[in-house]
Amino acid sequence: MTPRHRAPEPAQPGPERARRPGRRRRGPSSLRLVWVYPDLLSTYGDRGNLLVLQRRARLRGIATEAVTVNADKPVPRGGDIYLMGGGEDLPQILAARRLRADGGLNAAAEAGAVVLAVCAGYQVIGAEFGGSEGEPVPGLGILDIRSGRGERRGVGEIVADVDPELGVPRLTGFENHQGVTRLGRGARPLARVTAGVGNGDGTEGAYAGKVVGTYLHGPVLVRNPGLADLLLSWVAGPLAALPGADEEWARRLREERLAAAAG
Ligand code: GLN
Repeated sequence: MTPRHRAPEPAQPGPERARRPGRRRRGPSSLRLVWVYPDLLSTYGDRGNLLVLQRRARLRGIATEAVTVNADKPVPRGGDIYLMGGGEDLPQILAARRLRADGGLNAAAEAGAVVLAVCAGYQVIGAEFGGSEGEPVPGLGILDIRSGRGERRGVGEIVADVDPELGVPRLTGFENHQGVTRLGRGARPLARVTAGVGNGDGTEGAYAGKVVGTYLHGPVLVRNPGLADLLLSWVAGPLAALPGADEEWARRLREERLAAAAG
């Protein structure tokens, strides 16, 4: 969304976008979504997170531009929202190594970009995580969390109540991870688990500023459009509610999955 990415477009009439202090100036160009390393990190259809952000932006008249960055390419620094998915142990270790060497994601997060990282991606943006034999592997240090390997895998449906500060309805998702995660002082739990495992201590995920990590697949933004809108609003400002018809599939999916977790 910065003039850096696109030739300036003629000014269009429309509501003024909210501007946040310390963030780059916003022009009328499109929202830039960066899908990081799907060749290494994208389990359980995590790409759905990208599709949901595009759709929910489009329904509000916000244009998007999606950039897919495989692990042999540099991560562009000028994106607005960065997405990372889950992955198996070895691709996860490779992803962490390459992202550390590349530096693009760290630079973008430092500049105030929004980051949503799921499962393996969540562990990778932390200070360290447990490798395939449990050995500590350095992460990116974007989020103040540390992960290790737990005794058993957390597998199945998960439900968690979101930190009330964020104003997002309860989360529903699917989890499948061996990792357990401890939060440092610099991160807050995203949610409190009511069914399932999450971080392993009764909390689920973590956030700090505009960086969010979660163990939830589903994909998480498909099942939890409120979280998708929170991320979009961090870039585009307050968003209008969508007409009920546009929310019907998500509403039904949530109802079904929440009932499944309760049963
Ligand atoms: N390999 C990590 C773990 O088992 C992440 C798994 C995942 O992303 N589904 O904890």
